[in-house]
Amino acid sequence: MTEVWQYVAGLGAITGLVHLILFLRLLLRRTRETEEKQALLYLGLSLLWGAAVSLADLQAIFLPIVTDPADRLIPVLATALSTAQLLLICTFLEFPILPVLATAGGTWTAILLLANLYSLVASPLPIPLLQIAQGGWVLLTGVGIGLMMAALFRSRLALHRNRALYWLLTAVPLIGGQALSLLPAGPLRGTGPFLHLFGAIGLTRGAVSYWLPNVKAVLRSALRFLLLFAVTAALLLGMVVGAEALTERLPLPHTVLVVVLAVVAALAYLPLYRLLQRLVDRLLEGVGFDPAQALRDYSQTIGTVLDLEQLANLAVQTVAEVLDVRRGALLVATETERGGLQLQPVPGLGEVPQEVLELEPISPILARIREDDDPLFQYEMDRHPVLRQAARRERVGLRALEMEVYLPIRSQEELTGLLALGPQGTGEPYGFRDLEFLTTLAHQTGVALQNARLFEGLRDLNVRITQLNENLRAAYERLERLDRAKTDFLTIASHELRTPLTQVRGYVDILVDLAETRTLTPEQVLRIAENISRPTRRLENIIDAMIDASQIDAEGLTLRFVPTTLASTIRLAIERWLPALEERNITLTTQGLQEIPPIHADMERLRQAFSNLISNAIKFTPDGGRIAIEAHPLDEEHFEVTVSDTGIGISQADQELIFEKFYRVGSVLLHSSGEFKFKGAGPGLGLPIARGVIEGHGGCIWVESEGYDEERCPGSVFHVVLPHRAHRGPCRWKRPEA
Ligand code: ADP
Repeated sequence: MTEVWQYVAGLGAITGLVHLILFLRLLLRRTRETEEKQALLYLGLSLLWGAAVSLADLQAIFLPIVTDPADRLIPVLATALSTAQLLLICTFLEFPILPVLATAGGTWTAILLLANLYSLVASPLPIPLLQIAQGGWVLLTGVGIGLMMAALFRSRLALHRNRALYWLLTAVPLIGGQALSLLPAGPLRGTGPFLHLFGAIGLTRGAVSYWLPNVKAVLRSALRFLLLFAVTAALLLGMVVGAEALTERLPLPHTVLVVVLAVVAALAYLPLYRLLQRLVDRLLEGVGFDPAQALRDYSQTIGTVLDLEQLANLAVQTVAEVLDVRRGALLVATETERGGLQLQPVPGLGEVPQEVLELEPISPILARIREDDDPLFQYEMDRHPVLRQAARRERVGLRALEMEVYLPIRSQEELTGLLALGPQGTGEPYGFRDLEFLTTLAHQTGVALQNARLFEGLRDLNVRITQLNENLRAAYERLERLDRAKTDFLTIASHELRTPLTQVRGYVDILVDLAETRTLTPEQVLRIAENISRPTRRLENIIDAMIDASQIDAEGLTLRFVPTTLASTIRLAIERWLPALEERNITLTTQGLQEIPPIHADMERLRQAFSNLISNAIKFTPDGGRIAIEAHPLDEEHFEVTVSDTGIGISQADQELIFEKFYRVGSVLLHSSGEFKFKGAGPGLGLPIARGVIEGHGGCIWVESEGYDEERCPGSVFHVVLPHRAHRGPCRWKRPEA
């Protein structure tokens, strides 16, 4: 009895003491992150639970008949432990369901506790409380294991997977210990907290340091040690057994035999050990690599690379030749005006998002890569207490690249970029030798990256200069055309004014002649007067148009906005051209005019603008053609009217210029003057006046046409957008991009 008691007490004391040290160690740390608080809760609960187990065991030894409250407390505390463990797992492995689990686990533990208290103090409950508690524990633990497995399979980055593996391994003694404590009283139950202790040590280590050992590597070294140990032991054993066996058969003294065997074993041992070591290493670590040759080749080639994409390809491919890497990129760094850093990903291998990332001037990530030459792991950005303070946008942006490690690239001490590499295909974290190789490669890339950037800059500059040249040429051509329009004006104006004047003059001469010969009849006077009146009206129109045009230039047209309707305005505009339409056999249709609600506009000016459009449509459409005027609402404020024809069309180059004053397509001399003759051009003022009027209403006007073709007649469409309530100032409607 005493021995068992001593055993239980000793084990309990050691476990409790170490637990207490772990607990105090966490408690006395100054920084307190969420995970540390949760670990503290866990250790606190496990201290209570360990005490309950020891108490229950001692009571089982000394007072086996009495119902033990500690006994009842064990499953409740184990459930609480399981809940706390779940919380820790969620925090560490970044599962967002933390509050749900905390509430569920907490409530369940409270129910268990109350039920136990009640059945202890009042009356026993008619339900198997112990079994229910154990069932709950199994469920919670199962969820925890499921979450850890999910994290292990979900994480693509090696260091993240290493973390999941670490927690899974730590969970083995933790869960094992908790499970043992649920057994009936006996020696096994007592060892529960002791086993649990190993898990608690791992848990504390995991909570206080974000950098965890490479679990696979640790397991591998353990295996390596065991294998070599087993071989050495077998050899020594073989020697001893061999000495025994040979003593009986050989006529040699035992000592001599042992000496001979020892010498043979010693001679065989070293080569055998080395051979074995190499075999085990190859089996566990994979084939070694020689980065030296790859680095030599790389440094020879990059000197000639002047293209960023090519450089990114070459750098990442070189890495891929040596290590099993499947994605990588160069992040080209540019200082922002505010002192931050812009990172432009240039993919080298695999699909890499190419959005530009911007690091704030105060970003801890920026400070880290500027000041420190060491490789930066994605894992650090996710876990390091300082780097985790970086703006969410930065962290999300970098995480989206799915890279495992970033290596700063510098040229003359200045950070010019980062070499970003994805996880290794083997799932292994980058080892020390790998990182040494990568750092050297990043150093070698510095000058080449600087050169490629300069070259890229030159290329951009070249493109910009070509573009500017192009713009200059276009502007020059436009000016040249306008200049020609100005010169043409004299020809046009004299031509336009002279024709009606000559007519007037001719009729006046006839009148004078007839008057002199005194043969003038009243009918003749009437006819001649009519003939004089037509060119005079034309002269009047041309001069009016010139005055209007000059007004637009000077201070804009004087407009008076009054309530009216689009339908009546356009009806008036059409009325004037009815005889012309009939003569030229052109059909004019309207649609949707009535649907436009009453408007606020200068009716007379608007009529003039549409009249000009209709007159042009008649003039540039061959006999028998069609003109359509259609209206439809655009948004709450605007409506559109289109005037389309089946005429000769307008070339792309002229579509903007025809709205300039005195501009006419083609040679001036080809035109014949006339109000509605086919291709009978006027002084080139119709469209500028129309634009002046429309823009004066806060609207806009433009033309669309496939091009100029007198044979095919592709037609033109004049678009007019107007606000329902005319206003001064620019058009508020945005024309959709073509
Ligand atoms: P004009 O007084 O010469 O008609 P405009 O300013 O009204 O002057 O038109 C300028 C030029 O635009 C016209 O000379 C003609 O070449 C071209 N144009 C205008 N409307 C049309 C149209 N509907 N179809 C083809 N060309 C047109």
